[in-house]
Amino acid sequence: MRVLLTGGSGFIAAHVLDILLERGHSVVTTVRSSSKGQKILDNHKSYNKDKLNFVIVEDIAKEGAFDDAVKSDPPFEAVVHTASPFHFNVTDVQKELLDPAVIGTTGILKSIKKSAPTVKRVVITSSFASIINPFKGTWPDHTYSEQDWNPITEQQATENPANGYRASKTFAERSAWDFIEQEKPNFTLATMCPPLVLGPIIHYLQSLDSLNTSNERIRDIIQGKAKDEIAPTGTFIWVDVRDLAMCHVLAMEKEDAANKRFFITAGYFSNKEIAEIIAKNFPEYKDKLPTSSTPGGDYPKEGLYKFNNERVIKTLGIKFRGLEESIVDAVKSLQSVGA
Ligand code: NDP
Repeated sequence: MRVLLTGGSGFIAAHVLDILLERGHSVVTTVRSSSKGQKILDNHKSYNKDKLNFVIVEDIAKEGAFDDAVKSDPPFEAVVHTASPFHFNVTDVQKELLDPAVIGTTGILKSIKKSAPTVKRVVITSSFASIINPFKGTWPDHTYSEQDWNPITEQQATENPANGYRASKTFAERSAWDFIEQEKPNFTLATMCPPLVLGPIIHYLQSLDSLNTSNERIRDIIQGKAKDEIAPTGTFIWVDVRDLAMCHVLAMEKEDAANKRFFITAGYFSNKEIAEIIAKNFPEYKDKLPTSSTPGGDYPKEGLYKFNNERVIKTLGIKFRGLEESIVDAVKSLQSVGA
């Protein structure tokens, strides 16, 4: 298929890009600058411009940002929209988190409907943030599934950056499903709802100082920040970035994925377990790591929410990697950028 992939320089998208190419798809990816686009091309020299190219979309929050990007010769058959801010370093939640997420999502759907009638499937990276009820805490009586929606309101969204990020994903995904219902476009939709995404970075795109948000905890542990106390885990479920990337591609390829939401998790983890895996596999960090008696980073004593990930396993046939493989590969990738 010919695919438009947004945000190709991102942590997750870089893996989606590689899997798309390996499976024979041809890809145009959006990036915010030509230097990022050129880095991607330089690291995929075996693919010619018909197989891999980039277009610049500087700011997905701008009205009509994707109007030109969705046009291609030969025309696109699928769009994978991953670009959206994921960090908490914001002063204006509306401008820096909500607008790019929501306007970015509705904007690309409008542009596809208007100018790319050959697109049959759109896959959007949503999040467990749009599923979780953050006001219920660890909620041991509950089993999360695709049926759940975060009840966060517009007012709560602007109270702090954490609410702002969760709301950005919730409102963006809702607006995508509303678009399908109201506009009845030519394409079907699949949304990906992963919790914390861990695993190897694609080295040429990142540095230790500008690491993607979800891998920061691994970097922090090997840099000694958990030596005296391990930070709270926060979200206790996770998925490996390569498995999540494969889900994006399978959801694009498989008819059965049409108009479905996918809750994509491999299972539970804690920051304490991450530290233990690093200690077992990388003795060179011993002096910087917490020990078995270091406080913090464990599971909550009162128990935890359950999860139902049957749909993604059955419909996409995915087999999830284990935590140890993911953390070991993540640490090796961080070593390749100087950790
Ligand atoms: P990254 O920060 O690595 O990727 C985000 C991508 O979005 C980057 O390519 C970034 O470009 C682009 N982007 C952000 N804001 C804009 C904007 N205003 N205009 C144009 N492009 C923009 O994060 P991830 O790969 O982790 O996240 C990708 C997606 O996955 C997001 O939608 C995120 O919400 C979702 N997600 C991530 C999880 C995780 O644990 N990592 C968990 C659940 C969902 P640039 O880098 O050039 O700024």
